[in-house]
Amino acid sequence: MGFAFFVPRAAAGHGSYIKKGKGKNMIIVLKANRSKEQVKNFISDLTDRYDVSVNTWVGTHSTVLGLIGDTAAVDSEYIAAQDIVESVKRVQEPYKKANRKFHPEDTVIKLPTGQVIGDGSLALIAGPCSVESEAQICCVAERVKAAGATFLRGGAFKPRTSPYAFQGLKAEGLELLKKAKERTGLPIVTEIMSIGHLDLFEDVDVIQVGARNMQNFELLKELGHVHKPILLKRGLANTIEELLMSAEYIMAGGNEQVILCERGIRTFEKYTRNTLDLSAVPLIHEKTHLPVIVDPSHATGKANLVEPMMIAAVAAGADGLEVEVHYDPRHAWSDGAQCLTPDAFAQAMAKCRQVAWAIGRDM
Ligand code: PEP
Ligand code: MN
Repeated sequence: MGFAFFVPRAAAGHGSYIKKGKGKNMIIVLKANRSKEQVKNFISDLTDRYDVSVNTWVGTHSTVLGLIGDTAAVDSEYIAAQDIVESVKRVQEPYKKANRKFHPEDTVIKLPTGQVIGDGSLALIAGPCSVESEAQICCVAERVKAAGATFLRGGAFKPRTSPYAFQGLKAEGLELLKKAKERTGLPIVTEIMSIGHLDLFEDVDVIQVGARNMQNFELLKELGHVHKPILLKRGLANTIEELLMSAEYIMAGGNEQVILCERGIRTFEKYTRNTLDLSAVPLIHEKTHLPVIVDPSHATGKANLVEPMMIAAVAAGADGLEVEVHYDPRHAWSDGAQCLTPDAFAQAMAKCRQVAWAIGRDM
């Protein structure tokens, strides 16, 4: 397959960032009044199972163990379930390659087409929810490009809640995206739903993993062997740590070009499709060196809320935006209610530029 290669600036020599034996990575408090023999047996079970060493503090009422070493593989739920254990606390995150502690510099992803994500500039991914026809995708591509978009999005394989809803034009949709790319030069961002389709994605520039597949671990493992950036969207009901663990799956396979996407999570609120967790942006920047973008379209489900959330995402430091745009939202084949028209997108972009300028960001 003709996948393009490049190595993110901060990726070189990754392995050497992971040092074993530094700090106490997990603390286990044992229940009171356990015999020395029980404690000894538990410690040998730990050192047999995992590649760790154990420090022991014997107090008046309880014994505390400190696990040192590479505790990423340690199953804290297994430990917590042991009869001898009172509580377990991880003092180091379970992700390594995605962890900013081991890789302080931002990962900057450079596409062979010239676009850069994660260097402080704003990546602007825009286009319809679904590819519908050649005329539609080419027209939207031209309009979003004119408004400043740097990538074209468009779903060819669509994850729909109902099996009776439009499922996407599939392979034909990918061909139409290619035509729009030839016309505009905009690189393509589109979703993969099955690894069996990977051969069809040869000309796709950024492969999206949708919210529903964030924990499709077999898919993530296979994408770990692909030499293209992966846009990984946060699951509807997933924590930030789970998102980072999913990124870790891709990175553990060797593909360190992962872009995270906050797209709203499901809460009890019904006025919006999802709840945009905007504090995820600075938090993700703190926890990981990977770039993070925001999708205000799926986050809100309402076109009138998209512009304010685009602006807020820029102010929060997002590395990019993914926005659904259609010239005729009322007749869009999917997600019309949250689509901006090209004019509304252009207007929102102008406001984003002002905010970016006001806070000293490049756009
Ligand atoms: C999409 O971007 O087309 C999409 C389906 O989004 P999500 O996976 O975030 O629901
Ligand atoms: Mn959509």
